[in-house]
Amino acid sequence: TDVHSGSPTVRARSLVAALPRYTRAAGLNDVRWRASSNESTVPPSPHILTAIREAAAHGNLYPSLIGEDLISDISARLAIDPARIVVGGGSIALLQNVLAAYTGHGSKVVHAWRSYEAYPILIGVVGATAVPVPLDADFAHDPTAMLAAIDDDTRAIILCNPNNPTGTELSPQQLERLIAGVPGHVLVILDEAYQEFSRCPSNTASLREKFPNLVVLRTFSKAYGLAGLRAGYLLAHPDIADDVRAASPPFGLSRVAEAAARAAWADRAHTDHIVEVVREGRAYLVDGLSRRGIHVPRSGANFVWLPVGARTAELEAACVARGVSVRAFDGEGVRVTVGERAAHDAVLAAIDDLAATSR
Ligand code: PMP
Repeated sequence: TDVHSGSPTVRARSLVAALPRYTRAAGLNDVRWRASSNESTVPPSPHILTAIREAAAHGNLYPSLIGEDLISDISARLAIDPARIVVGGGSIALLQNVLAAYTGHGSKVVHAWRSYEAYPILIGVVGATAVPVPLDADFAHDPTAMLAAIDDDTRAIILCNPNNPTGTELSPQQLERLIAGVPGHVLVILDEAYQEFSRCPSNTASLREKFPNLVVLRTFSKAYGLAGLRAGYLLAHPDIADDVRAASPPFGLSRVAEAAARAAWADRAHTDHIVEVVREGRAYLVDGLSRRGIHVPRSGANFVWLPVGARTAELEAACVARGVSVRAFDGEGVRVTVGERAAHDAVLAAIDDLAATSR
């Protein structure tokens, strides 16, 4: 029994009670297939595993202060000044550091909704006010409404492209027009977690040149298949990169994560394979859905959005019963990560189960 059974009399800041909580999908640890977290279905390559083992052998030593080696690899391939690159323990962590540096009490952060569930949480943690702007009727960012939501207190706007959980993307022209409409003193945070799976990737190099207020967030969790090791990077003007570093805890990237990210970055065949698996799986699932008369928003990510509204809970339960976890957003829809054909077949079978019971 717990001897420390009394309740604490210390109280968290009132903003903590108001934070939405991260959730995980039903059945996640019991199902045969995980299609609920947008993970890669491909495990790390032998090359990556070797790098991890070597780094772990020096686990008694602190990592480099800011991840210099990974920065230098990214700098070389993308032809970007290392002063414009920040690396960290996942893009969520980087986003929190960006928000801590640029926003806070009395400031507002505009973002689309429905979008990535971490946004309102991280905005709330730093004491800022989240300003969610509804997606348009096609489940895409609504540039006009987002620009209209910016006011004198707005310090940042987050754009999720492709958008999680709907998979929709702004075309390069739409994205550029949207960023051009944001006042220069407002930070534009472009979250490109799913960029590698995009059908219409934007030229972020040219965008960064035109808009010094632009921060691009990328991750090793999706196309590089390292969600469990936590690594991400950010591209921005050197002044912004410097401010973000100043606002970040030191040693944010572990030795193992840095080694894994470097090895994954170098292993192009591995990434190409992951991207190929996603493209194929996405086409297969979308085709199976359309054969059943279900049309979904065109996805540029490693998941597909099924806007089933009031039937969300039912569909989630049917998927779990068929052995696959999916991400349900109550009353809105279900997000299905793509990857394994057998998992897609299980989702399609779950949909058939539902159709049969409602007949
Ligand atoms: N941004 C978006 C839009 C995401 O969907 C996710 C992961 N679900 C992240 C960021 C977080 O990525 P990371 O694992 O790099 O923290």
